[in-house]
Amino acid sequence: MKAIARPIYRALKTLPVSQRGTIIIFIPVTCLLTSLGAFIWLKGSLGEDEAWVQHTQQVRLESKRLLAALIDAENGVRGYGLTRQEKFLTPYNQALKTIPDALADLKDLVDDNPEQTERLQTIRLLVDDTLFVLHQKRTLQGELKKLNGISEVMVPTAQLHNWLEEGKEVMNATRAEIDLFAQEEERLLSERQQHQALSRQVTWGVLYFSAAIGIGSSMLAMQLFRHLQQEIREKQVNLEQTNQQLKQACEQLQRFTANASHELRNPLASIQNHAQVGLMAPPEDDTVPRQRLEKIVTLTKSMSMLVGQLLFLARNDGNLIDESLQALDLVQLLKPLASEWSLEASKQSLHFNIDFPTHRVMVRADSNLLSQAVGNLLGNACRYTSSGGSITFRLSNRSYHALIEVEDTGIGIADKDLPHIFEQFYRVRGNRSKAKGGFGLGLAIAEQIVRVHQGQIKVKSELGKGSTFAIVLPLLAEV
Ligand code: ADP
Repeated sequence: MKAIARPIYRALKTLPVSQRGTIIIFIPVTCLLTSLGAFIWLKGSLGEDEAWVQHTQQVRLESKRLLAALIDAENGVRGYGLTRQEKFLTPYNQALKTIPDALADLKDLVDDNPEQTERLQTIRLLVDDTLFVLHQKRTLQGELKKLNGISEVMVPTAQLHNWLEEGKEVMNATRAEIDLFAQEEERLLSERQQHQALSRQVTWGVLYFSAAIGIGSSMLAMQLFRHLQQEIREKQVNLEQTNQQLKQACEQLQRFTANASHELRNPLASIQNHAQVGLMAPPEDDTVPRQRLEKIVTLTKSMSMLVGQLLFLARNDGNLIDESLQALDLVQLLKPLASEWSLEASKQSLHFNIDFPTHRVMVRADSNLLSQAVGNLLGNACRYTSSGGSITFRLSNRSYHALIEVEDTGIGIADKDLPHIFEQFYRVRGNRSKAKGGFGLGLAIAEQIVRVHQGQIKVKSELGKGSTFAIVLPLLAEV
């Protein structure tokens, strides 16, 4: 079921969620309603069948009652004719009452069937004829009784045969017609039952089919609903994550703005201060204004560096466009940096070791950006290592990536500060970095550059012993 549900759900995915829900429910509900309808029809049809059987039985019973009454009447008249005893006339008289009742009941029963009504009309005529003959036979006996005053032989022997035979044909015809009438009812019943059986078979088929489809599609609907639920849950999680990211971004932006304005406000206040002091100096004194102007120049240089770094961060956020990336050999890119920083290190009485491979280490990178990131690490190493210490600048390649390391034997970083040093404006307290001119942006810039190159920047450090910063970049497969 899962295998069927997956492609169906994929096809439904183009529709809005509400429409998807309606379609998922529609199929099983339709099938289940169809099977319910078929079931109700079957139940009704069984009830109808039962009514028909009862109706036929009633017709049969009434026909039998009619026939029995006719036979009773005939036997009664015969008995009376042969014995002249009045008691034989009782069934005859009884039959005269029963016969109209039975005929009336039969008329009501077959009222909706014109053919049977017509046949019943014929029966009525034949019954009338039979009764007329019986009446005549009985009357004849009465008259003979009056004429002869004989009591032993009711009908003269010479006439006995004729008397007995009289009316027999009409009676037989009546019986045959009543039988036909009853048989026709039986035939109608069986015809109807056959027809009903066929429709019932079809309905059972519809019932089974729609129930099977209904159950199958209900199970499918459950699977589809599970997918829908999963999708909604994933969307909710995504939304929550995006919200969280947005919140973090807003907080970061707020922090950044507050820090940036703070960093700019301080040198501006100093500049104003120096300018005012310079202006207050007596006109003949040119030493004080000069000193102040020199301070102002230093401060504006530092401000311009800060603004440059802020602009850099703003400009290089996000992904790099493909054109700015080019295949380059890291050995060639890092060599000039190594010589530049080795000079700087020697000025600070630091040992500078270079450990580069002899083969090429190819990566796809923006050379200016990458130089800037590595330069920041080298600058920090020089800045936070005291005279006599050493710095090692290393390049190597592993199975799928290149590794640039800057190791120093400087002041190191405390464990509590390590998770924060890549945050913008973060400076470790008490390590004189501010005095050395850092704004806490160098590592943030390096991290941002490495990130847009799909790389990683890592740090290992021990307070008082030194630090190792490592940049990991994906290697470019050489053709
Ligand atoms: P800054 O411009 O102040 O140096 P960075 O972002 O480059 O800012 O560094 C953030 C903080 O991390 C610095 O203030 C410094 O305390 C610490 N740090 C960075 N590099 C080193 C290092 N090589 N040795 C010791 N501490 C370092």
